[in-house]
Amino acid sequence: MAKKTYERLAAISYSRTSGSPEERKALKYLAGEIKKTGFDPVIEEFTYTRKVPKEAFLAVVNDDGSETVFTVTGVIDSASTGAKGKTAGFYYLRSFDEVSLSRIRDKFVLIHDRLSPEEYDRLKKAGIAGYVTTSGTIRDTYENSDLETVRFRENLKDYGAVPAFTIRMIEAVELLKLRPEKVRFKLTLKEETVKSANLVVTVEGSDLKDEILTVGAHYDSVPFSLGSWDNGAGAVEVVSLLEYLKKHPVRRTIKAVLFGSEETGLRGSRAYTDAHPDLNEKTKAMINIDVGGSILGKELIFLAAGDETESWIRGLLKEAGYEAVTVKKLMSSDSANFNDVGIPSISLGQGAPRGGGYMHTRYDNMDLIDENVLEREAGFLKYLTQRLADSEVFPIPRFIPEQLRKEIISYFGKNLSRIASLPAAQEEKPLPFRF
Ligand SMILES: [Zn+2]
Repeated sequence: MAKKTYERLAAISYSRTSGSPEERKALKYLAGEIKKTGFDPVIEEFTYTRKVPKEAFLAVVNDDGSETVFTVTGVIDSASTGAKGKTAGFYYLRSFDEVSLSRIRDKFVLIHDRLSPEEYDRLKKAGIAGYVTTSGTIRDTYENSDLETVRFRENLKDYGAVPAFTIRMIEAVELLKLRPEKVRFKLTLKEETVKSANLVVTVEGSDLKDEILTVGAHYDSVPFSLGSWDNGAGAVEVVSLLEYLKKHPVRRTIKAVLFGSEETGLRGSRAYTDAHPDLNEKTKAMINIDVGGSILGKELIFLAAGDETESWIRGLLKEAGYEAVTVKKLMSSDSANFNDVGIPSISLGQGAPRGGGYMHTRYDNMDLIDENVLEREAGFLKYLTQRLADSEVFPIPRFIPEQLRKEIISYFGKNLSRIASLPAAQEEKPLPFRF
């Protein structure tokens, strides 16, 4: 069994970006493997649109008027400069302190990391003309690194987009050494419609079949990465779960979903939860698996649920003898779309030690994947699924705590979040005993 899971993972370890022929090839392979288990997977197609960079250009304008050009890529769904491009003053925004923010009006800024909505709001209010953010590490070489493609997140769109770029960190250093005062930048974007699909398997329950437990994992990857760790591992662990469920029927209905296009904005899970409001109603909880199988690192369990669920899971870990830490937090993965329609989730993931994992890079491949780790994770997934699906009373209350609800609204942005329009839920406590 363990060998089979490993082999399946090796079979889909190639770049499987959203909407690509490789994403579809992986979907067909996984559908074939699921058919062998005796279930009948259904392909659910969906589309979405995005604005991808056509031309991205950034140059420092030197004192003598000459230009030093840097390799950049445009941020997907950010804003175009128009065909002529723009020239602006340059500022290196080391931090979001008040002094720095007072100096960036009409400037093009260099920043690090990804922006939170609060940070981006400050940049907009301060009047920036555009920004470039860094990719990779200072130890990269050109030969051994790829320029990360970044997306202008939905929760930033509430504030209005500006032209945005990504540059290798090693090249950002070269740029700063020029002590630039002025830059010229150009970004043109073209809208494209992306076709992707989810793979859905229904494992009908027995006496409690009207109650649903969804188990999901995304099967796409980011560019350059072979997506073994993130998240081919999760996808093949779900296939292994199905193999098990064929031999061990359960009381509640399991919906196993392999999501497409998670890496480009949780598109598959959004399409699925939008397409099935009837199923959302009946869904008691969602189990998500995103990132696993690496020989290095610890097992993480993200809980988007109330206190009672956390206690229950901790007890279960002891009972099962499974080494994992729990954290009550929204996970940036497909489970978030289930949370956004009011469904609590348990997300299984894996955290790498510092220096021991390179998510979303070419180093996410089979080199660190271990057969036994995959088996251990798949084993716990089976245990957890079976316990939930067979429980007499479902142990996880259908409840999203207020703090988490706020996190969800901030994560998706006020305009796109669905939970923003749902009433706040109360956790139902048992009635006190009365004499
Ligand atoms: Zn992932």
